Amino acid sequence: MGQYDLCSPKTVRELLERYSLSPKKGYGQNFLINRDIPRRIAASAADGSDVGYVSEDLPPERIKGAVALEIGPGVGAMTCELSERFEKVIAVEIDRGLIPLLGDTLSGLENVVLINEDFLKLDLSALIERESKGMRVVVCANLPYYVTTPVLMKILEEYPPSAPSAIDSVTVMVQSEVADRICAESSDCAAYGALSVSVALHGDAEKLFNVSPGNFYPAPKVSSSVVRIKFHSHGIYDVYPDAPKDDAECGIFAERVKHIVRTSFLMRRKTLPNALASEFSKDKTSLALGELGIRDDVRGEKLSAVDFCRLTALLYKEP
Ligand code: SAM
Repeated sequence: MGQYDLCSPKTVRELLERYSLSPKKGYGQNFLINRDIPRRIAASAADGSDVGYVSEDLPPERIKGAVALEIGPGVGAMTCELSERFEKVIAVEIDRGLIPLLGDTLSGLENVVLINEDFLKLDLSALIERESKGMRVVVCANLPYYVTTPVLMKILEEYPPSAPSAIDSVTVMVQSEVADRICAESSDCAAYGALSVSVALHGDAEKLFNVSPGNFYPAPKVSSSVVRIKFHSHGIYDVYPDAPKDDAECGIFAERVKHIVRTSFLMRRKTLPNALASEFSKDKTSLALGELGIRDDVRGEKLSAVDFCRLTALLYKEP
């Protein structure tokens, strides 16, 4: 581990002061100040499931052939934990002011590569190709709340739907309400929506554990939860085996599914034939739903990811 106790609120305050910094609300800077939390998140990301409380007395083993990609290292609390568990850590931080501080707190961690960029703007697959050299990539982060959904969508959609993603899984802390939306499976759950379907098209999501505001400096107004998304090993075919076999056609199909999902949830209170009426005649949608054995007064929120794939295939079928 590094030379600082990066989860001590006193140390975090002193470090920020030394580098003439203060937590930036605009970058969603809420730093973890309970070491149990980054340790548990990093250990869960490495293990593939929630490992519960991790004793400090158990020195972790580094996983060979696995890279952790961290978005927003902050002062480096989780980065240190990841560095102990993964062969390599790529940490992407947007805040230029934090870079010299991180140079200090992460000094001596030879397996950490620090990149000063906006994660949303970088070429993710080029970065992964350059830095991971074919190793398994696991995303792990305490995500800034203001960009949670765009960050997740960028990660999910970086690789073509017809192929397995170079990213194996994503273990991230997000606002609890967003965690519910990410993990909602059942259409009977109020949190179920476009985000739940998008996630389900790419992988299997589960909520691991909750984290209360008192574990952060400064404390956010909302509660947080850690979620894990394990990517499907055969892309969209794991959800819908009948997706087009040709790569380009599969890409077009996936775009169409996304479009239908977005449109259906945009008008969530309307029945599907009405919600999609600007693009497909109500008769066409009703007929397609009938073929799927679904009542035509159904709303989008009742359809699963595979239902959306089947419906898309029928709606775009050549006559
Ligand atoms: N990982 C640290 C921890 O757990 O204590 C800090 C987490 S803090 C919630 C979010 C971090 O993400 C901050 O360091 C912030 O500067 C950084 N960040 C915000 N937007 C970003 C972006 N678009 N790209 C990369 N980093 C970003």
